[in-house]
This record gives sequence, structure tokens and C-alpha cells, in this order.
Amino acid sequence: MKTTLYKTTEDVAPVADLLRQGEVVAIPTETVYGLAANALDGGAVLKIFAAKNRPADNPLIVHISEWEQIIPLVSHIPPKAKALADAFWPGPLTMVLPRSEIIPDEVTAGGDTVAIRLPAHPVARAVISACGLPLAAPSANRSGSPSPTTAAHVMDDMNGLIPAVLDGGECAVGVESTVISLVGETPRLLRPGGITPEQLQSVIGAIEIDPSITANVHLDKVSSPGMKYKHYAPKAKVTLLHSSRQAFIRFMNEQAEEHSVALCFAEEAKEIHKQTLCIGHENDHNEIAHNLFALLRQADEMGLCRIYAHCPEKTGMGLAVYNRLIRAAAFDERELEA
Ligand code: AMP
Ligand code: MG
Repeated sequence: MKTTLYKTTEDVAPVADLLRQGEVVAIPTETVYGLAANALDGGAVLKIFAAKNRPADNPLIVHISEWEQIIPLVSHIPPKAKALADAFWPGPLTMVLPRSEIIPDEVTAGGDTVAIRLPAHPVARAVISACGLPLAAPSANRSGSPSPTTAAHVMDDMNGLIPAVLDGGECAVGVESTVISLVGETPRLLRPGGITPEQLQSVIGAIEIDPSITANVHLDKVSSPGMKYKHYAPKAKVTLLHSSRQAFIRFMNEQAEEHSVALCFAEEAKEIHKQTLCIGHENDHNEIAHNLFALLRQADEMGLCRIYAHCPEKTGMGLAVYNRLIRAAAFDERELEA
């Protein structure tokens, strides 16, 4: 299959036509690029799983462009869901809600809930509006590899597998949306992302944090199926290091492994006499999130075998970065002595 790379605004119409015909196309969002198809057409949705090589038990997020579009998709809207939508939509927040009958099983992996998001990216919203359909869209990478934050990343993974990619430039956030479930008594954070736990709590009060966010919990206990897989991983082996700045610098300068790199903060790069990939300033978690996936892909392009990543603090967006890094590292994390 030939993959056409379209250049945004003027090309929304042909992309919307493909979506109405039951095809799969990649579109930009503010989090990462999405691989979109008509969420109401189970056959179209199956093509997403095929292109990504995604396990069928990992459900998809349904994207809408107007609040009213949610009504036929869910059986009930809890007041806290409305409060979160008022505060954070359009934006990088996904809500898990009780599904309606019109959602095909392919979207929900057979479950009785559906994940919904109203993205902020103007091109994503223009595509949804132009085709007049809710769009199921997971990240537009092959399953397991780092999520794409540019159209070039999408082409690297999807060229020849889908008919079109719509280029909307670099994704501003750089990590996937926050996923929160509103079906239980207490709202439950299933995946940290572009909206922080602190922001959620400021609107709806107490939330539970699913243990799978920070740990390798037993597979059948995972409430967000996507969390159980090794994920976001480059070909290079990743080790996540918790340490002081000095201990990280010392560790990197002493280790002699070939084709290794330090994924480090801007403040320490100059003192590391090895190859470095600078992820951003230590306290700028937004900058770190923005750069993370592009650097994991760059490490592979450079032919590196080993990435030692310095872990940021787990507050704010740092929690989302940590959650992606431990999965990229397949849970290989170590403390360095000070
Ligand atoms: P992706 O779009 O590739 O980032 O993956 C979507 C994420 O949303 C995965 O982690 C899924 O497990 C999660 N998700 C989607 N639908 C549901 C649902 N109904 N319940 C819980 N998690 C969901
Ligand atoms: Mg994904």
C-alpha cells in the first residue's frame, strides 16, 4: 500500500473522506500522533490493530470534537466527568465511562466501559468535525515502540501499512493523555499523562492511583490493559537510574560499555564525558515529556545498544515520564549510592 503524506489544513478533506470509507489514517494530536478510524465501525477499527500489531485485549480511546458527541457513546455521565470535561477539555485527558450499545466490541476489547477524549489540537478537531464521526485512535506507532511525536516518526513505523499520514508538526505535550476511570466509587487514575494528578484533585478531590502506574503488577490485576505490556521501548536496552546528580555523572564517567548513552538533564550534560542525549532541564517536566519519545527513537537511529536514563522526580508531569521510562526499561531500575 502506498502511504500519502498530507500537509495539514488544506488536506483535511481527503483524510476525512478516507475515514468515512472505513480506512485508517494517522493524525496529529497535542499528545502524540494517533492512528484513527471510525469508532462506530468494528471492521475499520480492526485495521488499526492490524497496522499496529496491537494485542486485541488492549482497548482504544475514542476521540470527539464537541461535548455533545459524547452523549450517544456512553450510558451515563457521572457529575465528576462533567466537571473534569469543563476543566480540561479540549485537552490531554481521557475518561473511562460506561459504554453505550453503539460502541463496537473491537473498541472496548469486549469490556463494558469506553475511554473518551476531546483533544485540543486544531487539526485533530478539524478532521473529526469534517468526517462527522467519533474516531478510535491509539498512538500511531507499531505496538511496543516509542510513541510518535512527529509525522516522520509515524512514517518510520507505518509507511506502506496505512493509506495516509496527516502532518501537523511536532506534538506539544509529547506523552499520551492521562486516563482516569469514573466508573467506580472513587475516580481512579489508570495512566498519568498531560493532565497531572494534582490538577485532577483540584477539580474532583480524592482520586485513587492505580498500582500499575509505578509498578510491574501482576498481569490479571491491571485495570488499564495497555499498562501490562513492555511498552514505549526503543531497540536499545534501557536502564532507569535513581540518583543524585553527582552519582549519575560519576556512574556514567566510570562505566565502559560500548555504544551506550546517558539520557541526562541539561544541567549535567557538560560533566559527562560520554555520549549524551539531553532530555531537558531537571525541573522542567513539560520539556522532558516533550523530548522523551523523540530521543528514544534517536538513540536507535544512532545505533546505540544501551541507554542509562536519569529519572526525574515523580511529581506533576514527572510521574508520566517515570511511568513511560519504567516500561521502556522493562522495569530495570536501580538506585545509585550518593
Ligand atoms: P494508546 O492510545 O495507545 O495510548 O492506548 C490507550 C490506552 O487507554 C491504553 O493504555 C488502554 O489500556 C487505555 N484504555 C482504553 N480504553 C480503556 C478502558 N475502557 N478501560 C481502561 N483503560 C482503557
Ligand atoms: Mg500507545
